[in-house]
Amino acid sequence: MFKKILIANRGEIAVRIIRACNEMGIQTVAVYSEIDKDALHTQMAGEAICIGPAKSKDSYLNMQNILSATVLTGAEAIHPGYGFLSENSKFTQMCEECNIKYIGPNSQNIDNMGNKLKAREMMINAGVPVVPGSDGAIDSEAIAISSAQRIGYPVMIKASAGGGGRGIRVVRKEEDLISAYNTAKSESKTAFGDDTMYMEKFIEEPRHIEFQILADEHGNVIHLGERDCSVQRRNQKVIEEAPGAVMTEELRKQMGEVAVKAARSINYKSAGTIEFLLDKYGKYYFMEMNTRIQVEHPITEMITGVDLIKAQIRIASGEALPYKQEDIKIQGHAIECRINAENPNRNFMPCPGEIKSIHIPGGYGVRIDSAAYQGYKIPPTYDSMIGKLIVHGIDREEALCKMRSALGEFIIEGVDTNIDFQFKIVNNENFIKGNFDTSFISKEFQDL
Ligand code: ADP
Ligand code: ADP
Ligand code: MG
Repeated sequence: MFKKILIANRGEIAVRIIRACNEMGIQTVAVYSEIDKDALHTQMAGEAICIGPAKSKDSYLNMQNILSATVLTGAEAIHPGYGFLSENSKFTQMCEECNIKYIGPNSQNIDNMGNKLKAREMMINAGVPVVPGSDGAIDSEAIAISSAQRIGYPVMIKASAGGGGRGIRVVRKEEDLISAYNTAKSESKTAFGDDTMYMEKFIEEPRHIEFQILADEHGNVIHLGERDCSVQRRNQKVIEEAPGAVMTEELRKQMGEVAVKAARSINYKSAGTIEFLLDKYGKYYFMEMNTRIQVEHPITEMITGVDLIKAQIRIASGEALPYKQEDIKIQGHAIECRINAENPNRNFMPCPGEIKSIHIPGGYGVRIDSAAYQGYKIPPTYDSMIGKLIVHGIDREEALCKMRSALGEFIIEGVDTNIDFQFKIVNNENFIKGNFDTSFISKEFQDL
């Protein structure tokens, strides 16, 4: 097992990884930007190294500085968290070359799945159902028009390098196609430095159902059930739950087997997620694979009892998975609300600033993963997510009651948050009934 791990991230996920290392008796190194000098991850780690100015590109995306910090502190492995360098095959390759263990899949896995077009192609070859779409890249307006005609409206234009819900546009009629294509393309260029676009059939009112995979270096691949992440705003997840309210034992078995097949077909190693769209008729389609830990991983931990961060670390150190598929049992129901420093009444505008006071909910089955504390100044530079509230109940109904109670207790003063908005969602009649899909927020909260 590793003696020392460097965490190439910030915020709640860096704190989450430091905690796992502490529990495993592994020393930790935090890296931080100048503006994160007083951040929780900087304070909690055994050692902390400044890697540059606030801007991500100068610090958390600065591969040279992160690798130097690793060598300097004698850390043997790097955990990338999510976002930042977590899906950057060049960084993974540099780690491989420097003899530093990257806690995640190899650079080839990241390369193949990070390019969504290539991922589609590989999944088709592996016999995994994908959303009907364009054969390859859409690199001209003319190809966009002919592809949309062949696929049939409505269509979705997507960035091959995309992530975090960006670079995506729905087009319902031909006259809107060209402007949508060009804006998505330029958005992708700005966000990802790549403007390769492709097109998919727009699936109406689907559920976003994703499967958690664990794969070790000895050929064992298992899934840990699904998460329903259909409550989204602008293609970004807001609430996640596990298991999915519409899933049956039979569908879980089928989709789980397809997810395992998908991971096996690319010789995947580490934790990963296969995202599917499940349509109204019960048909499911591969959408993308995330080759990293996900924001919403705690809900899977709560219902399976498997610590996914520890599992990632153990897999990277060469250990075999200690459980088989049949050992994974789903217990109860878990829900996660993402807590963001933003103002829902001002078009969810991020609201950085100082947390004057904070009261965190507690109790049986209530978990907070956060890097916030009283007096902490949320910088304007990064993500507006400041934490996650996760509850676990014996069934969905109990989990919902716990979430309402916990959100009611949660008080943050000094910055605006989406806590009241989350409270409205968990009290929404259709949400309570489990009657929702990815269009839920835009339909139920039109005035926002
Ligand atoms: P998850 O399924 O883990 O919620 P998200 O798509 O919400 O994944 O992304 C998690 C985090 O990673 C977010 O902070 C998001 O902004 C960031 N992110 C995701 N994909 C990319 C990418 N390709 N480039 C940069 N950041 C990304
Ligand atoms: P990202 O990498 O940004 O997470 P995804 O490909 O996972 O991009 O898509 C993000 C979200 O957009 C999905 O969770 C889903 O709600 C919606 N979406 C993506 N593709 C389609 C599609 N073909 N039809 C309908 N909705 C889609
Ligand atoms: Mg996705």
